[in-house]
Amino acid sequence: MSSERTYPDLRDAVSKLCSKYPGEYWRKLDEERAYPTAFVEELTKAGWLSILIPEDYGGAGLPLSAAAAVLEEMQASGCNGGACHAQMYTMGTLLRHGSEAQKQTYLPKIANGELRLQAFGVTEPTSGTDTGAIKTTAVRDRDHFVINGQKIWTSRAEHSDLMVLLARTTPLQEGMKKTAGLSVILVDMREAVGNGLSVRPIRTMMNHATTEVFFDNLRVPAENLIGEEGEGFKYILSGMNAERILIAAECIGDAKWFIDKASSYAKERVVFDRPIGKNQGIQFPIAKAYANMRAAELMVAEALRLYEAGGNPGEEANMAKMLAADASFEAANVCIQTHGGFGFAEEYDIERKFRETRLYQTAPISTNLILSYLSEHVLGLPRSY
Ligand SMILES: Cc1cc2nc3c(=O)[nH]c(=O)nc-3n(C[C@H](O)[C@H](O)[C@H](O)COP(=O)(O)OP(=O)(O)OC[C@H]3O[C@@H](n4cnc5c(N)ncnc54)[C@H](O)[C@@H]3O)c2cc1C
Repeated sequence: MSSERTYPDLRDAVSKLCSKYPGEYWRKLDEERAYPTAFVEELTKAGWLSILIPEDYGGAGLPLSAAAAVLEEMQASGCNGGACHAQMYTMGTLLRHGSEAQKQTYLPKIANGELRLQAFGVTEPTSGTDTGAIKTTAVRDRDHFVINGQKIWTSRAEHSDLMVLLARTTPLQEGMKKTAGLSVILVDMREAVGNGLSVRPIRTMMNHATTEVFFDNLRVPAENLIGEEGEGFKYILSGMNAERILIAAECIGDAKWFIDKASSYAKERVVFDRPIGKNQGIQFPIAKAYANMRAAELMVAEALRLYEAGGNPGEEANMAKMLAADASFEAANVCIQTHGGFGFAEEYDIERKFRETRLYQTAPISTNLILSYLSEHVLGLPRSY
């Protein structure tokens, strides 16, 4: 399979680490809906999850394309970066908007693995994609915020020490922009769980360690406010391009894994006395999935290029995420079809990866919302909401 290979040494090292976590490892976790602790710990120890943290704070200070290469390689090796990918982009909120004291307190510990910053609490059950409609409040009481409300789909909350939380600090009044009055607060979950914060796991179609979290008069020191009060929505938005590009890179990795599996099986499986891969009905869907993956990969590279040149490539980051998620899901479907009945057997890992990659049609942003962004912000069509 030919494709541009950036960071070859880094990719080889990640792939070597991933080879210690084969299909059986993920299958067992999937069955038990358990967290891949050993995998995440080894990645952390090797420094792969902190490569975006600047060297001054103990990380490797590498650009976003290096993080994209790590995540792509993980997925292409059959692993599931969903267990830990958030640390790469949630950390950015702290890095870009946190005070020097906050950065000194947390970043070195995140880099050396003492602290995990894996939880990102934005989505709520009643607001959905309409982030400005969130209802969780953080009310100032002298040197604390008192937090009340609920979040849903707060992934990895049980396996994280810190959570980046978006809450309303100024009540919505008439004439006020819906996205104003929101703030980002860093919640130390080690102190909070059992003292106003409770976490309830949600069992989903794939193993994703996702939860709902409830805040009942949780007190958080006011010094944990990130940036300025009321500016939180902007801070969350500023990290979204990086998040979309990284998720897109994961989808490219998934697509490569599916295409590789499908091609190998099509060469080996003999039916009617010949390999099934001799039939164009088997070849063409794999070839089409490959072409679509390569096209999406180019868009990921373009989004990375613009991002690293200091731009704010909303258009390319959104397109990369959508095209890559579509490419991975197409490849997943083709891979199952190529394997016939065996595609449904757990021991082939295809049905598991199929379930895992399906998520990216919906999260962290659904395809409709990307199309809506392109329609309204790129093509200038009338706003629909
Ligand atoms: C496994 C999992 C993990 C997640 N992890 C996190 C996390 O760690 N932190 C976090 O904050 N969130 C997380 N999410 C939430 C995720 O970002 C949302 O599910 C996603 O953004 C969609 O929001 P929603 O589920 O509320 O759908 P809704 O907003 O209710 O939308 C439902 C459907 O309607 C469509 N829709 C809505 N409005 C429009 C419109 N105007 N035009 C056209 N279509 C529209 C949507 O595209 C979607 O298909 C996770 C979700 C899942 C499933």
